[in-house]
Amino acid sequence: SLPLFAAAEQHARQNPEKIAVIDTTKQQSFTFVQLLADAAALRKRILEQLGLSGDLEERRIAFLVPNGYDYVATQWAVWAAGGVCVPLCISHPVKELLYTVGDSDPSLIIVHPEFEKIAPALREGCTTDIPFIGLEPFSRNETPTLPSFSPPFALSRRALMIYTSGTTSNPKGCVTTHENITFQASCLVKAWEYTPSDHLIHVLPLHHVHGIINGLAASFLSGATVEMHPKFDPKVIWERWQDLGSSTLFMAVPTIYSRLNDYFDAHIRGTEQENAARVGARALRLVVSGSAALPTPIKEKFAEITGQVLLERYGMTEIGMALSCGLEIQKRIDGSVGWPLPGVEVRLTDKETGRIVDGVDEDGMIEIKGGNVFREYWRKPEATASEFTADGWFKTGDVAKRDSNGAYFIQGRASVDLIKSGGYKISALEVERKMLAIHAIQEVAVVGLADQEWGQRVAAVVKFREGTTPMELPTLRAELKNEMAPYKIPTVLKVVDGIERNAMGKVNKKVIVQKYWPDKA
Ligand code: ATP
Ligand code: MG
Repeated sequence: SLPLFAAAEQHARQNPEKIAVIDTTKQQSFTFVQLLADAAALRKRILEQLGLSGDLEERRIAFLVPNGYDYVATQWAVWAAGGVCVPLCISHPVKELLYTVGDSDPSLIIVHPEFEKIAPALREGCTTDIPFIGLEPFSRNETPTLPSFSPPFALSRRALMIYTSGTTSNPKGCVTTHENITFQASCLVKAWEYTPSDHLIHVLPLHHVHGIINGLAASFLSGATVEMHPKFDPKVIWERWQDLGSSTLFMAVPTIYSRLNDYFDAHIRGTEQENAARVGARALRLVVSGSAALPTPIKEKFAEITGQVLLERYGMTEIGMALSCGLEIQKRIDGSVGWPLPGVEVRLTDKETGRIVDGVDEDGMIEIKGGNVFREYWRKPEATASEFTADGWFKTGDVAKRDSNGAYFIQGRASVDLIKSGGYKISALEVERKMLAIHAIQEVAVVGLADQEWGQRVAAVVKFREGTTPMELPTLRAELKNEMAPYKIPTVLKVVDGIERNAMGKVNKKVIVQKYWPDKA
């Protein structure tokens, strides 16, 4: 049987009352027993709809379901039927949904009633005739029974297709197998010591590896409970944490921690709630940040408020997670994403020569090997082939360096974050990190602009904090003089009201350059 199902069955047998999911929208909780029962029922419906007797044979099933129990039951039903889950992003406009649908070429689209309104537009936009079914939302059953089937499929079967964030080009469908999913989830269970007593508050999107693997799969594998919120709301989270001991885990992207910090300052600091909020957050077992570089001021501010030192990790759609800081506080190093996860091999190589880079503080391209590495980009055999070395390492396209303790520091994407100016290589992430130490700077994106004289120029797009006077370039440069080498200091400044980020808090730098300096892209 598939490991996630076997684990769920075991949790269900050990404790039939054990809650897998708390759905905060429905205000209901769902046991592992019910999850397996509901997945079995929906599995049957899916197979009937397609006129099949028992196996989807790796057909893709796309679904548009809000964050909550219905999502989990749908995902498990597709797996139980031997299909490939294609979770659609609920915040995408129809045009982007159609990209995913068109590319993944599903046999069926399942739409939750919440998205009924856009179903006609979606259906109309499909170039092929794909059947749609409406999902009948699940509700708590007081007496569920464990279904008698268990999915007998091979681990090597395609199981999940998640689209990359599209930061560097069109999103690519990353196909992972059941083996990959289990491997990715179990590395985290080991490294972060998930147990059945854990209770995760889940606020992340569910079309992305962060929410699906780190949030759902790792929790279910270990028998932890996932409390699913429809979306992130800082007020709800601060209140929720005040219920001492009722949750243990929280995972998010840096922008979420920034919003939690800002909300605390604006609405909690100095009120009668302040102490309870601080104490509640401090009581959590583990709070994790990832998907984009965590600015040290955000980490420091969160620690000042809560006493929690955020644990940063690095991963991507193709590989799940690969590097993580440690559970011990001394292993949560500012600016570092830590060490390889158990079972994941990581190496750095020279971009030009491919030689293995093993020096301290030496930049290299991150390459990964292990059971976590995805199987293929969907229907892109050339792209798949070109992202692997001859000896089977996956080329992430990210650059990092290591300190003398072997801890990794991400320097950014080779394609957009590594700026070459006047013969120097500059990490945009490093410049951003240092600029964020200036209090007046709330958000920054550093980009390279094509330049005849320098090759590239370092440009900064900055949002200044409300209530501060935006700096002029000379003032900014003077402020940065003691922080970094002169060639790293931006020579172009663009002041903006906000920096556009996608659902995972990522900035698309190509879009930024196009928008502000179309002739320098
Ligand atoms: P696309 O591949 O479509 O361009 P994407 O790479 O942003 O989009 P994801 O797979 O969601 O899509 O993101 C993975 C990338 O996110 C990594 O390759 C890395 O550049 C970045 N990343 C993830 N975690 C961190 C981190 N802790 N620090 C810095 N960067 C990170
Ligand atoms: Mg990528």
